[in-house]
Amino acid sequence: MSPISATYVHNADAAAPIHVQVTWDSAPVKDATQEARPKAIGPQYIETQRPKVIIVGAGIAGLSLGVLLQLAGIEFRILERMTEFEHAESAIFLNGMTQKFFQQIGALDEIMSHAKMITSMVTANEDRKVEYTLEFGEQVKLFGSSGYIVPRKVLHDVLVSRIERQNIVMGKRVLTYIPGNRYVTVKCSTGDLITCDILVGADGFFSAVRQNLYVELNAKGLLPPKDSQDIALTTVRLVGQTIPLDPEEFPAIKDENCQFMRIVSDSKPYSWTYFTTATNCVCWSVTSFAERDSNRVFANTTFDYSQALSMAREVMDFPIITGGPGEPTMKDFLKYTTTSMKKIVLEEKLFKTWYHGRVVLIGNACHKINPSGGSGATNSIHDAISLANYIVSLPHWCEQKDIDHRFKAYQDERMPWIKEAFESTKLFKGMVEKNLKATMIRLYAKTMTGTVARSTMLKMNSNRPQAAFLDYVPDTGTVPSEYQHSYHFTLRILQDRALEDAEADARAQEMKDNAVRDESEATTSSKLTSKAPLTPALAAIAEASAIVTARSAASAAAAAASQSKNALETFQNTPSKAKKPIASVV
Ligand SMILES: Cc1cc2nc3c(=O)[nH]c(=O)nc-3n(C[C@H](O)[C@H](O)[C@H](O)COP(=O)(O)OP(=O)(O)OC[C@H]3O[C@@H](n4cnc5c(N)ncnc54)[C@H](O)[C@@H]3O)c2cc1C
Repeated sequence: MSPISATYVHNADAAAPIHVQVTWDSAPVKDATQEARPKAIGPQYIETQRPKVIIVGAGIAGLSLGVLLQLAGIEFRILERMTEFEHAESAIFLNGMTQKFFQQIGALDEIMSHAKMITSMVTANEDRKVEYTLEFGEQVKLFGSSGYIVPRKVLHDVLVSRIERQNIVMGKRVLTYIPGNRYVTVKCSTGDLITCDILVGADGFFSAVRQNLYVELNAKGLLPPKDSQDIALTTVRLVGQTIPLDPEEFPAIKDENCQFMRIVSDSKPYSWTYFTTATNCVCWSVTSFAERDSNRVFANTTFDYSQALSMAREVMDFPIITGGPGEPTMKDFLKYTTTSMKKIVLEEKLFKTWYHGRVVLIGNACHKINPSGGSGATNSIHDAISLANYIVSLPHWCEQKDIDHRFKAYQDERMPWIKEAFESTKLFKGMVEKNLKATMIRLYAKTMTGTVARSTMLKMNSNRPQAAFLDYVPDTGTVPSEYQHSYHFTLRILQDRALEDAEADARAQEMKDNAVRDESEATTSSKLTSKAPLTPALAAIAEASAIVTARSAASAAAAAASQSKNALETFQNTPSKAKKPIASVV
């Protein structure tokens, strides 16, 4: 494979672009039979020779997968079309179900130091009267964590800072790929051809990888009709974030917890939402249900700033509640909002096909969830965890059947949760729409009994996945995490590998001991006879030593075996719902 050159711009710590030559450390596997099989090394069950992975897109999904593959020792590159990261000046809601991930990658404290917890969500009407409040205060006790608001830039920087700089290649727009039986070749707009073993499309809703995948499947007659249907544009939204506000004028920002407010109009087709951030800013959005269209296919619709300004003028008199004096309106946010304000389209679609051959999709590339439910980023991270587990579980010199099996297991694990997210998003989305159904949903939410609210919350928060190849994070709440196949499956494979390594080390040590003993006997005999040949024994020692040296990770592997065993024991001792048999997906 020929190396590619690329420009990598690392915003976090470099003002000027850094030019780097990007190559794989080792060539991708072309024919497993042509090369000697590699040996496993420790710690943490990582192999020396694994599939080379190209991730297209450095969004939340691609970066999360990159961080995990980095920690797993799997060689990868992220190709990002932008030449520089654009840090959206906004904050994002992350579900408490992401906290184990951040803890595993050693970033939880950093994230939480910039976060505001969400303990409730208030819905009010245009008369500034609270209609009902959804309480989340119990979540920490039940699940060990609650939802939180974090600046997008912080989230992004945390992920980027954990990826070695040569692994993110900026300015590489992927156009297409050429599928192959043993490898796949990615084509970039810069003319580069990059060969890899696995191609991950993490390139967002208008994914070039998905579009090419579907062309390939369509040509083979394998694309389900639903996947070739138009993508419906559901709603249009104006989003923005203020500069840090004066707590006297906006007392709501003084509260230690996030103040999350939704106002739903009874007289116009709009709803508007805003929440406070840890940096004393307010993130706000106004959704219009008037602008709908369902005739767009694979087109990236963007509005320019003048269109955003025009929508801002339409909505500036909408009433808001700030806890301050007077009758504040959206104008009070708009006057402190920077030019990062945007008018955007909220599409949504759940694709049926997530993989084929050596190509697999994660994040928005395979499921775009309406942001009203605030679960798009959380689910992108969960996709990355599941896929990373299955990639790590692949055998050495894996074949297509192994990849097929892992990709299927990944989609099987994730699809039910994504469907769940779409369902719960319908509830949140429905609440703020302007129709009879929405009125019913709001009434339902208002009168929802404690038991119903609790069971909805239990369902939504029971999925708290983690990586099997990193330190296990136990549950701290009273509700156990839902069964996670990718974790059990991969942990068992890693444990078996570590035990095999430990046994191989023990055998090598035994050979060495035998050789030393033979040599010692031969020396004694030689001293007695003065003419006995030493060469075979010395050769045996040399051979045994070489094996031991080659397996220099003997102690690490043994430690890994014990670590794996401990992790499994800890896991098994942890209460878990539905202990499904691991073999069910095999
Ligand atoms: C207004 C708004 C508010 C939201 N709020 C929340 C929230 O509060 N909570 C939440 O959980 N979710 C929220 N979401 C959703 C969330 O942001 C997304 O679900 C999530 O970011 C998806 O991440 P992704 O990595 O899959 O895709 P993206 O973020 O779209 O990233 C894709 C990346 O791929 C790159 N790329 C695209 N094409 C190519 C190509 N051909 N070659 C190379 N690179 C390419 C892009 O430049 C981009 O960097 C919100 C979304 C919107 C629009």
